[in-house]
Amino acid sequence: MNMNKSAPVLNPGEVSPVPLDLIIQAPKVLLHDHLDGGLRPQTVLDLAQEFGYADLPASDAESLGRWFSEAAFSGSLERYLKTFKHTVGVMQTIPALTRVARECAEDLAADGVVYAEVRFAPELHIEQGLNEGEIIEAVLSGFTEGQAAAAAGGRRIRVGVLLTAMRTAANSRHIAELSVAYRDRGVVGFDIAGAEAGFPPTRHLDAFEYLRRENAHFTIHAGEAFGLPSIWEAIQWCGADRLGHGVRIMDDITVGPSGEVKLGKLAAYVRDRRIPLEMCPTSNVQTGAADSIASHPIGLLRKLGFRVTVNTDNRLMSGTSMSHEMDLLSHAFGWGLTDMEWLTVNAMKSAFIGFDERLEIINNQIKPGYAVLTSELVERMSR
Ligand SMILES: [Zn+2]
Repeated sequence: MNMNKSAPVLNPGEVSPVPLDLIIQAPKVLLHDHLDGGLRPQTVLDLAQEFGYADLPASDAESLGRWFSEAAFSGSLERYLKTFKHTVGVMQTIPALTRVARECAEDLAADGVVYAEVRFAPELHIEQGLNEGEIIEAVLSGFTEGQAAAAAGGRRIRVGVLLTAMRTAANSRHIAELSVAYRDRGVVGFDIAGAEAGFPPTRHLDAFEYLRRENAHFTIHAGEAFGLPSIWEAIQWCGADRLGHGVRIMDDITVGPSGEVKLGKLAAYVRDRRIPLEMCPTSNVQTGAADSIASHPIGLLRKLGFRVTVNTDNRLMSGTSMSHEMDLLSHAFGWGLTDMEWLTVNAMKSAFIGFDERLEIINNQIKPGYAVLTSELVERMSR
């Protein structure tokens, strides 16, 4: 960072890397976060003890946290997904689901997140006899409690829920119906997740057609482990509002020897229609969807004007947070507060809540928040 008084005047919004404490304070918006991928390690241990789950691979919070992130760095999506056996294993009762959701809202608020859409698959939490309605209500009350606790501590966060159907199962229409049934009570959308290769989104066309008839919103995990056909189906057959990851859209973009860029028809469509990409840099490196943060497609896609957003995916497995992702990107691409604000407004515009509600958060939380931080940075530069 250049803080030398005699240096040419720098636009404070372009200063990079942004100091980490300012990144943490900055308002952030998170659209792609899995409830069962964001538990505190200590909570996994507590819940395992409370409910008699005996299969954990470690017995203290530090080694358990390390075990999760080591397993997640194995480079394969299939193995990465196996870590969820333990988190899902301890999320089988109403108190456990409520606690995990409450802590999720609190942790996100403490990290400066002002709006989040957190997703989970009800069908993964029925092992001990809960029904799907009980599961959804337990999670919704946890978020209500967490938002209230955050507000009491002076932090305003709103959390919306996305219900996920597993793409390997045949339950998506039913989960889609649940997302519509609960849409005025905190559920804001629908998603399909799980192993992508061999399970194209069109397998769940019935669910997506139903949602469109109900004027409901959905996103689809596509273009992470599998390439363009998955993205194309998600958009052109299923009608997805957003793409989960979408990293492989790069397969339809060619960069020539002197840097000239050419978009294929699908990439151009995604950009021109402003289809939001829910990118999760650390997670993408872990699953092999990107080679490194420095070479992550988000750098080029941002330059080309795609509607990219930054997300955490699984905070526990990736040992990450929104602030950590922003910090990595600020270092890798020289992004300053102006870029962070652009990414945050992109995400807020792409949220599944009403236009008036999105605008309210942009105007009352995001823009004033970045204005304060930019002044703070000017202040620091002039010291
Ligand atoms: Zn995901």
